[in-house]
Formats: sequence, structure tokens, C-alpha cells
Amino acid sequence: MNIKQLFSAHLAPTSPIPLGIEVSHAEGCYIFDTAGKKYLDLISGISVSALGHRHPKIIEAIENQLGKYLHIMVYGEFIQAPQVKLAKLLADNLPPNLDCVYFTNSGSEATEGAMKLAKRITGRSEIISFTNAYHGSTQGALSIAGAEWLKQNFRPLLPCTNQIRYNNFKDLEKITTATAAVFIEPLQGEAGAQESAIGFLKAVRERCTKTNTLLVFDEIQTGFGRTGSLWHFQQHNVIPDILLLGKALGGGLPLGAFIASKEMMQNLNHNPVLGHITTFGGHPLSCAAGLVALEIILQEKITERVGEKEALFRKYLTHPNIKTIRGKGLLLAIDVGSFEKVQTVINYCIANGVITDWFLFNENCIRLVPPLIITQEEIEMSCKVILEGMELI
Ligand code: PMP
Repeated sequence: MNIKQLFSAHLAPTSPIPLGIEVSHAEGCYIFDTAGKKYLDLISGISVSALGHRHPKIIEAIENQLGKYLHIMVYGEFIQAPQVKLAKLLADNLPPNLDCVYFTNSGSEATEGAMKLAKRITGRSEIISFTNAYHGSTQGALSIAGAEWLKQNFRPLLPCTNQIRYNNFKDLEKITTATAAVFIEPLQGEAGAQESAIGFLKAVRERCTKTNTLLVFDEIQTGFGRTGSLWHFQQHNVIPDILLLGKALGGGLPLGAFIASKEMMQNLNHNPVLGHITTFGGHPLSCAAGLVALEIILQEKITERVGEKEALFRKYLTHPNIKTIRGKGLLLAIDVGSFEKVQTVINYCIANGVITDWFLFNENCIRLVPPLIITQEEIEMSCKVILEGMELI
């Protein structure tokens, strides 16, 4: 069997239509397949490779850490400099109440940890989330997903998890003194880059404060400059009690985090002791890579150019078959009206060396999530290919 057949035979499938590109290597904004074809990556491993693939400084940091130690001990016991330095740099770039970091392996685990923390702090059981929300695929995180089709065959899931409508102010009354936490993406990724309505996050914040409910922002997809500011919540001037990070956090290696105040986090070390534990969370290699990635984003002011790049995409992507372009920064959704059309354009783009993808909860949209370092020429070139694809639908 060749490697494609072995892929089909031995790797658990997640969709009937995997993109199926056989990767040889990746560098900057490009992925190369084993036949030597070069693809411009407009997906970044779903918002992971903010600085492109194999950034030389990230590789150097990983190699440097490789020479020192890999896994030593379960999370939280030994002092590991890469974890400490990354936690400090995150805290330095967050509001003062978000000063204590719990590192996990993935975004889903960050969600799980935050759900437990909220229950532990408040003594309440209800978790509220929103329609079309995505917070991960483990059973706790899935319980708060906002799409029944994804959940129904896995029930029973967690009780006391309720969804209210995103951007519906009236529904916020359902947040009560029985609610432990409200989980919300300040800009919904899988819904097709759905922005929150003006004043909505403020209203959620006010309702949570009034009912003593913890407000959790999921910035797993939007964090690290993706929407033009380091954190998307900065654009709304609303501060959460707990912040979830993942994806770009590890600079290309697996890493997630939930972040809260030290006072809140103290609750996980007693009653019960070891209230949340992980073997690999905060792996030294991932933290070393993530530390350098965040340093580069800050030092090179990567976020400041994201807005210009969004404007270029919006300028080039005008076509009668494009209904609208939603989203912010370099998390954009091109609405073409149907999944068939989405697939036609994606397939054309891939055949012509541009990788795009679709969204979990919005079948009418093509996903654009390029590395933040993408250049004007690369934007122009990729839009040309996308527009050619638009001619086919
Ligand atoms: N939250 C959001 C907003 C996400 O986009 C994702 C991943 N798409 C997750 C949580 C889950 O992260 P992971 O796949 O690392 O578990």
C-alpha cells in the first residue's frame, strides 16, 4: 500500500472528504506536497501558525529546549523556566485580574478546566453558552457547543448546560444567580467569523456582574493578533474573569491555557487537592516555542498590520458571486450561499495551489485564516485564484 492508502486504512477519519494533501514540508506561508507542489496556506492549521510555518526563531527555541529537558514531571510540581516565562509574558499583556495561567495540552482542555474552576468557585452548576458556539470536542466542551447536530448522538452530555442566542440581548435575562459561568467567543469562529453586536459583550459582562456569574472569553481562535489586536476583547473594552487560549499559543506546538486571577486559581489546590491535573499540560517544548512566538508578535508589532491586510483581502475579493465577507482582521468568511459552491471554490483553489477550508457551523462560507505574516503579493496572488474559483459557481 502507498502512504495515501495507509492513511485511509489506519488513521481514524473525521470527515468523508479530507483534503488529503500529502505533506513533504512547510515553510513560512507555504506547504509543499510530496509531488513538489507548492501551496499558499490560507488556513494556518486553523489559526495556529500565526507566524507561518517553522519560523526560524521558534525552531531555534525548540532546539535550545531540546538540549535541556523534555517532560520532567506532571504540571505544577517542578519549576520549569519556559512555563514561568510564558505565563509572566501573558500576564504582562493582559488586564491585572488575568495574572495566573493554567497550561493545558489543547483548547478543549482549557475549556474543561475553566468549567470546573467556575463550578468550584461559585458552587453553582449551570453553564450558559451560545448558539453556534464551539469550545472543543471533549464531552464537557461539547456540552456547551451551540449546534445540536454535533451533540445529539453523544447524549447524555453534561446536565445544566444551556444555550442562549448569540447577539440576542433579551436572552441575557436567562443568566441568573444559578449560573456558574457564561462561556462566549467574543467573535465566533466556527459560526463563520460572526462578530458580536455592538454593546453585546458589555451587556453580557453587566449581566454576569449583576448575578455574580463568571464570564469566560474563549479566544482560542481569535487570540494572538488574529483579529487585529492581541486579544479580540480589547476591541470591545470588556474584560472577562477567565480567558481561554490555545491554537497560536504554542507557536505551532500543542498548548492551551485558562487564565484567571491568582485568587480564583487557588481554588484548584484544595478541596479537593489536585482539583485539576494534567501530565503533559504546559510541555516545556510547547512553552519554549510559545514564548518566542509571543515575543515576536509583540516586538515586531505583528498585530498592527493585520488591519491593512484585511483591507487588501476585502479590496481584491469583490465578485458578484460573493454575497458578503464577514469577520475581522485575518479571520474572514467569504459567503457564497451554499456548501456545494464552497466546495467548488475550495477544490479549485487547492488544485491551483491555494489552501482554504470551510467552517463547522456555517456551510455557506469559505474560511480565510492565513498566517499573520502574509505579504501583499501573497494576498493578491491568492485572491486572484479565489476569484477564478468564483467563476465556476
Ligand atoms: N474553542 C474555539 C473557539 C476553537 O476554535 C477551538 C478549535 N477549533 C477550540 C475551542 C478547541 O480547541 P482544540 O481543538 O485545541 O481542543
